[in-house]
Amino acid sequence: MKTNGKVYLVGAGPGDPGLFTVKGMHCLKKADVVLYDYLVQEKLLSHVDERAEIIYVGKKAGRHTLEQEKINELLVKKAKEGKNVVRLKGGDPFVFGRGAEEALELVKRGVPFEVVPGVTAAVAVSAYAGIPLTHRDFNSTLIFVTGHENPLKEKSAVHWSELASGRGTLVIFMGVKNLPLITGALIKYGKSGNTPVAVVYRGTFPDQKVVTGTLCDIAGRVEEEKMKSPALVIIGEVVNLREKLNWYESLPLFGKKIVITRSRSQAGKLAALLDELGAETVEIPVIRIKSIEDYKTIDTAVERIKDYDWLIFTSVNGVHMFFERFFLLNDIRDLSGVKLAAIGPATKKEIEALHVRVDFLPSEYVAECFTGEFIRNYEIKNRKFLLISSDKARDHIRKTFTELGGDCTAVTGYKTTAGELSREEFNEKINGLSIDWVTFTSSSTVKNFFKLYGGKKRFKIASIGPVTSKSVHDAGFSPDAEADEHTIPGLVKAILGFYGRRE
Ligand code: SAH
Repeated sequence: MKTNGKVYLVGAGPGDPGLFTVKGMHCLKKADVVLYDYLVQEKLLSHVDERAEIIYVGKKAGRHTLEQEKINELLVKKAKEGKNVVRLKGGDPFVFGRGAEEALELVKRGVPFEVVPGVTAAVAVSAYAGIPLTHRDFNSTLIFVTGHENPLKEKSAVHWSELASGRGTLVIFMGVKNLPLITGALIKYGKSGNTPVAVVYRGTFPDQKVVTGTLCDIAGRVEEEKMKSPALVIIGEVVNLREKLNWYESLPLFGKKIVITRSRSQAGKLAALLDELGAETVEIPVIRIKSIEDYKTIDTAVERIKDYDWLIFTSVNGVHMFFERFFLLNDIRDLSGVKLAAIGPATKKEIEALHVRVDFLPSEYVAECFTGEFIRNYEIKNRKFLLISSDKARDHIRKTFTELGGDCTAVTGYKTTAGELSREEFNEKINGLSIDWVTFTSSSTVKNFFKLYGGKKRFKIASIGPVTSKSVHDAGFSPDAEADEHTIPGLVKAILGFYGRRE
């Protein structure tokens, strides 16, 4: 039995989950207990083991919080139970994060610990705002300051007069509330009122917002914009470089909130592509892929695989489900003599990942094109086809091949059912967000979405192809973008095309 637990003080980075460290991820995956703060990006928690305990100990104004002593106590208790404890803290644990206090307590109580640094907001938030913290033409010092304290307090721990006289860049944490006092103090102690200042709200998140100005006017501007915490204040000449270096907010889909309706297991690829382009993705799956309960039909087909001339796959899910049964009952040599066809490139790739060649892929990834091109290239009459599809698939391929004298058996490889949310939860979620786009990757997602959605069209619609678009029209709406190439990258291209972008 394990007796010695350990506490890992892990920096979660500033927001963008991509800025989490590899070592942090390693700790998170093997954690038995995770204690996390309010500024930690919750997406990171999806990497925590299902059996692990996740405890929120964040501090947010107006909400119940665990006091520091209680957090310390919990860390010690869990570690002494022999657990691997991850204490996940926003940014870096040792930069204005009370990590030092927690570490000292662990030493005092004899609990072993490690520190995994994180990318501090100072560095990451500035970078995502297009502001380099140093440039040798402008500064050679860089100071991190807490703005938590009232600078007019008689005995301030921060020496504002010294800070005012230096030429270095000042990065102020927790400074929004006291901004008028901070800027006032710096001016009072002699810093030029024209010094450039930037305030960055939720830096590195897709809803990052930046207000710039000078020491004289920034407080007023921030108030006008109703900017809140968490925000970082950057003071110094380097702020001017943002005009040229503002790369993040220039990403083609920056600021766009895009809903992904496909199943959770399949959302990843689309989400990753949209994230890269700066969009904020929201997963609201309206469909779930389920295994079929009865394998009899598919197993019979699998046992007779040698009788077939062609095996046709219309989706990645079909490939998964079919080959799971296939390898249970057969081995790869039983496929010799059978040709394989895929409806689109993702399906083809999935088959090829099994080291099996795909003999036919249409030039456009819809059923009509599939049959049209197939017929021109291959014999149908008296040939045997096995078609693996979902329970809700259209019957176009089977019907066409049968009419031409082919022997086409369609088997259900998987089922699709509605998503996890009730109508109320769904509408609350959709209406609570100001969504720019809803993406549809199949007719089933459209049908399930509009079965739940009860409002007017307050968002743009992107569809993967004409069949999906038809379902959108049938629901009384119209797509604003339709993919030319009926794939996930094609769908993303269509959204970019809407804005006249090509990336
Ligand atoms: N340990 C953290 C800082 C904790 S103090 C780190 O190293 O980043 C909390 C303050 O950090 C906030 O009030 C804000 O000033 C700053 N901050 C953290 N995340 C931020 C973000 N995404 N955008 C802007 N400021 C952020």
